[in-house]
Amino acid sequence: MKSIAEPLKSVRQEIEKAAAAAGHPVKLLAVSKAHPVALLEAAYKAGQRDFGENYVQEALQKIADLRTHEDIIWHYIGPLQSNKTRDVAEAFQWVHTVDRLKIARRLSEQRPPHLSPLQVCIQVNISGESQKAGVTLPECEALAQEISQLPNLSLRGLMCIPRAGASEDELRQAFREMRLLQSRLRKDHPQLDTLSMGMSGDYLIAIEEGATIVRVGSRIFGARSPRKEPKE
Ligand SMILES: *Cc1c(COP(=O)(O)O)cnc(C)c1O
Repeated sequence: MKSIAEPLKSVRQEIEKAAAAAGHPVKLLAVSKAHPVALLEAAYKAGQRDFGENYVQEALQKIADLRTHEDIIWHYIGPLQSNKTRDVAEAFQWVHTVDRLKIARRLSEQRPPHLSPLQVCIQVNISGESQKAGVTLPECEALAQEISQLPNLSLRGLMCIPRAGASEDELRQAFREMRLLQSRLRKDHPQLDTLSMGMSGDYLIAIEEGATIVRVGSRIFGARSPRKEPKE
């Protein structure tokens, strides 16, 4: 089996250095979609606790397989459809991809009462791509206001996935807009402490621009075999 401990360690060291330079803590979310549970287990043994998954059925199986590791924090980072909100509300601690009120309401209603509130980020369509998930900058404020009223959700911050193939300048620009938006929203929502941005190709840039959670997959787990998005 591939060694996970080594790439995990070097990613951690880079993040620590960048976080120290940026002057704020940064959490590493290990994005384990499309990788077998044995690799998650190896990452867990190497100290990783936060895992990000994109596909509900695949994630539920992994969560069941690893249920004895009670200190794992599961983050849902995939597209959210109404018919999947119950599974997500029951099995995850974080959702990074909330982009409409209907989904937020369902997550709040379906969050089991014995669990702490679901930690959520609003996904922002920062590059303005028409086919992309996420709210536009002007829509974000209203959605934040509405989510903050929902009893079983705790609004923590903003998430983005910049345009694929964006240049470094474009990435920095996008990350800066996210940070500005966050500081505007914090006037009404001081608890907004999270900027979920940066992936394998750009997480150090994202940290320089203010990311507090970076979502790193292939740099840790290696390339994913190409797959069609499953119908869920
Ligand atoms: C797959 C994925 C990642 C990780 O991508 P890598 O380039 O493999 O690091 C991060 N965020 C989201 C939303 C993803 O879907």
